Amino acid sequence: MLEAQIGAYVAEELASPVLDAGRAALAELLGVPPEGLAFVESATGALKALLAAWPLEIGDTVAVAPSEWGPNMEAFADRGLQVTELAVRDDGEIDLEHLRRLLATSPPAAVHLTQVSSHRPLVQPVAEAAELCRAAGVPLWVDAAQALGHVDTASGADAIYSTSRKWLAGPRGVGMLGIAETWWDTLKIRVPAMAEGGLPVVRLLESHEAHVAGRVGLSLAARQHLELGPAAVRLRLSEVGRGTRASLEGTAGWHVLGPFDSPSAITTLRPTDGQDLTATRARLIGEHGILTTVAATARAPREMSAPLLRISPHVDCTPDDLARLRSALSTS
Ligand SMILES: *Cc1c(COP(=O)(O)O)cnc(C)c1O
Repeated sequence: MLEAQIGAYVAEELASPVLDAGRAALAELLGVPPEGLAFVESATGALKALLAAWPLEIGDTVAVAPSEWGPNMEAFADRGLQVTELAVRDDGEIDLEHLRRLLATSPPAAVHLTQVSSHRPLVQPVAEAAELCRAAGVPLWVDAAQALGHVDTASGADAIYSTSRKWLAGPRGVGMLGIAETWWDTLKIRVPAMAEGGLPVVRLLESHEAHVAGRVGLSLAARQHLELGPAAVRLRLSEVGRGTRASLEGTAGWHVLGPFDSPSAITTLRPTDGQDLTATRARLIGEHGILTTVAATARAPREMSAPLLRISPHVDCTPDDLARLRSALSTS
C-alpha cells in the first residue's frame, strides 16, 4: 500500500530498519554474520546464486547424501559439476567416519547437505559435518529450506540458504542466502553498475528490483520466530513429529516412514493398497479440510522409488487433528 501511496523506493527506504533487522535475525538463525546475509527470491534461487558466485571449475565434484533434494542435483549439473555420493547409515544419515575419510583421501570441491529432507523425517548431522569439513578445508553448503524454523540451523556451514514460506510461514517469493565471512573475498560477484556504493559483498547478490513487501513479511516472520523462542519451537515440532508418526502408525492401507524418533515434524506415508495419492490429497482437502502433499520421486530421486503422502504438522497440531486425519485416511 505504501508503495502505491508514496512511491516504491521511498517505501523501501522507510522499511529499511525492518529489513536490516530481518537480515540480522535470519543471519543469527543461520549462523552467519548479518553482512553475510542476502535476500533472494527462493531457496532454488539462492543455490543458483551461490553456484554462480562460488569459485568453482567445470567438472568439480560435490558430495551429497542419497536423500539429496532432486532439483539441487539439476542445479549442480547445470553448473557443470559432478556429484559423488556420501555413504549413509541404515537410517539415511550420513556416515561421519566415511565423510572424514573421503575428505582426507579425495576431497570434493564442496559437500552439500539438505539438512531436513522433504520426503521423510530425516535430519542430517550438519554441525558435525561442518566441523569435519572445516578441518579439511572443504566448504560445506547447507540447504535449510525445510530446516529453518524447524531445527537448529546455526551449524557453522560455509553457505546456507532457505525460504520464507515453509516452517517460518512467511510470504512466498522470498528466500535467503547466508555466506560465512571466510569466503567473502573469494566470491566472484560482479558489482552491478546500479548498485548502491559500500554494500557488503554478499548483499550484491540481492536483486535490485525485488518483492520488498515480501522481504518485510519474512522479516516479521523471523522476528516473531525469535520472540516465540526457536528452541521452544524446535522442541514442540519434534514432539509433534513423533506424535504424528505414532498416531498414524498402524493406519490400514498406509506405512509410516522413519526414522521415527527424528526431530523433524515431517511425516510421510507410503500407500500399501495402491491408493491414488493425488485423489487422496484432493479428498482430504475437499472433504476434511486437511492439507497434505503428494511427494513425487523427483524430490529425492536417488532414494525414492514411489510417491509418498506427506503431512507437515506445525506447532498448533492437536491430538484431535491427528485423530481426524487417521480416520480420514482409513476411509477410502
Ligand atoms: C522446498 C525446497 C526447496 C526449494 O525451495 P523454494 O523456495 O521453493 O525454491 C529446496 N530444498 C528443499 C529440501 C525443499 O524442501
